[in-house]
Amino acid sequence: MTAQVDVELYGELQKFGAADVSACFSCGTCTASCPLVTEDATFPRRMIRYAQVGLRDKLLSSKELWTCYACGECSETCPTQAEPSEFMAAARRYAIGSYDRTGLARTMYTRPVLGTAIAVFLAAFFAIFMAAGHGGQATGSLDLFGFVPEDLVHTTGIVVMVIVALAGLAGIVTMARQIGRAEGVGWRTVVGSRAAVGRSLGALWEAIGVESLGQRRYREDCDADKAAGDADQAAVPIYRRRWLLHAVTMWGFLGLLGATILDYGLALAGIKATGTPVPIWYPVRLLGTLAGLMLVYGTSVLILDRFRRANRSVAHSTPADWTLLALLWITGGTGFALEVALYLPGAPAWGYWVFLFHVAVAMELVLLAPFMKLAHVLYRPVALFFYALARTPELPDRQGGTR
Ligand code: SF4
Ligand code: SF4
Repeated sequence: MTAQVDVELYGELQKFGAADVSACFSCGTCTASCPLVTEDATFPRRMIRYAQVGLRDKLLSSKELWTCYACGECSETCPTQAEPSEFMAAARRYAIGSYDRTGLARTMYTRPVLGTAIAVFLAAFFAIFMAAGHGGQATGSLDLFGFVPEDLVHTTGIVVMVIVALAGLAGIVTMARQIGRAEGVGWRTVVGSRAAVGRSLGALWEAIGVESLGQRRYREDCDADKAAGDADQAAVPIYRRRWLLHAVTMWGFLGLLGATILDYGLALAGIKATGTPVPIWYPVRLLGTLAGLMLVYGTSVLILDRFRRANRSVAHSTPADWTLLALLWITGGTGFALEVALYLPGAPAWGYWVFLFHVAVAMELVLLAPFMKLAHVLYRPVALFFYALARTPELPDRQGGTR
């Protein structure tokens, strides 16, 4: 099949924040210096070349876009300051915009003022919507769901989750089909036989368990602190390492999501009502507290590092970076304030309003997930699955795709 040339591609990528890579003369130094390049995944030079010659489909079907962890090492070594690391980040934003058919992701990325206005509007909308149905404020002890009715929160949450699931699934299917075609991996390769299913499950574990949750290659190979030029200085302490900050932010977010779902599960099972004070060691409370601590710690240091431009990987920040960090930090911070309010004697009135704000921002964060930087949580594991599959020996049903 002949590859289509899209003469608009380079200009499009620049709208998503790609640096001017016209200075790139394909020397390959960036690829040679990237700690994550393997025989099965070579980048970023090849990705830049696709952009320069307008090979849109090749770019969007490259699993390599998502195997990059933005350490900045390649930009450090590029002789022409073509910023290949920034190019990779912009290409991922472009990919998120392309996988989403609603156009919202594209707006969020390419029109920052409108994108910020949408984020503010959504938070205000959820807050006003919840406030419109609010009840009284009990003064004996904090009765959060007496203030914002549980049914209202529950139903709104389900609607939000359904929208996110549909948008996320549509994007994942689009991406998987594109990469699958390029890699010559079809359904038969993935589930066509017992051996294929076993291989696919192994690749899935590698993609989700080892790489995404365990951050193995980010931790072991992609050392952003080294890329920052700290190799000759005192070692960056473990609690400041990029991979750990990224990991605790992700674990914190997933932990809070899990604690919220479990809390509802306990209420449905009649074990405990949602939002009621329980001892700090209560398992769901403990999970929520630890996850909240991780989220607030991770996002706080990541925000500070971006302000200080602490290393090469955070030398350039886009409005999308700030919006995501702000929403994550507010969700974690207000969650903690709420926990304090629950254990204070009496029922502080501010606790009710913090609850309203917390629910509104958390709903917005989840709703916007497929349309902003958080979408990498959906897309990276898909690319890593194909990457793991490509490294698995002998895929007998491969359909003759190109590498
Ligand atoms: S981005 Fe820089 S290092 Fe990479 S191929 Fe182009 S000129 Fe060479
Ligand atoms: S930013 Fe790091 S991981 Fe990404 S291409 Fe450059 S060197 Fe490789």
